[in-house]
Amino acid sequence: MSITTSSAADALRLNLRSRTAAAPGEVRTTEKPAAWETKKTALIICDMWDDHWCKSAARRVVEMAGPLNEVVKQARAKGVSIIHAPSSVTDFYKGTPQRKRAQSAPFAKTPVPLATAERWGTAWCWTDPKHEAVLPIDDSDMGCSCVGTKCPIVPPWTRQIATIELAPEDALTDNGQETWNLLAERGITNVILAGVHLNMCVLGRPFAIRQQVYLGKNVALMRDMTDTMYNPERPPGVDHFTGTDLVIAHVEQHWCPSFTSTDVTGKPPFRFKEDRR
Ligand SMILES: [Zn+2]
Repeated sequence: MSITTSSAADALRLNLRSRTAAAPGEVRTTEKPAAWETKKTALIICDMWDDHWCKSAARRVVEMAGPLNEVVKQARAKGVSIIHAPSSVTDFYKGTPQRKRAQSAPFAKTPVPLATAERWGTAWCWTDPKHEAVLPIDDSDMGCSCVGTKCPIVPPWTRQIATIELAPEDALTDNGQETWNLLAERGITNVILAGVHLNMCVLGRPFAIRQQVYLGKNVALMRDMTDTMYNPERPPGVDHFTGTDLVIAHVEQHWCPSFTSTDVTGKPPFRFKEDRR
């Protein structure tokens, strides 16, 4: 048996998929292997709340939470830092070791100013015309995907869904500066995003994709552990899961590559039961 102390042995071996515009109207997809040192990698779990104003969105979070928790457990065991980021409900965790760990990480100056715009209880990085095309789905109705009666937009969430376990060594924050401080304290250069919803919070929150790209981190999306707020009755009129795939492709072209949880667990990627394509 070989001794596995090299950094290569402690790496996550990711198949990073990205897209580039090859010619007008033509986008090329490429997949590149990467070895991310686990000690220099954080997994940020975005807005996996205990409930949602859209009943379909809430149901899908429940379905994804168990498999995501399994991925989180394996990533943690490999040495990846876990940051729980349930936006606007961090007070639920007041006084916990995970919350205190984020609050007590020493202040570190960011290389560029953090977002100062506000939306939905945190700072926010809006769609950036210098960096991306318009989103490929119309979520201007907020994206209730329920058939028939549409859900009233009344946020009911109070905490992160309990299925996702908080380990003693994890951290919990929804704040951009606290996230940066945690990453700086641990020498983390690689940031993985998982959670919901990709067209909104997983891109826009101050710990999420746009902000981490602006800050110069190596960023990747775990693309089977996400979902969107997309109503198939809105343009482009595709089914909900095709809508999510379109946003994943948007991220891969304009923001960061993606990979599936298979690269962490060795198991098949997660797929929603309602995805009958
Ligand atoms: Zn709904």
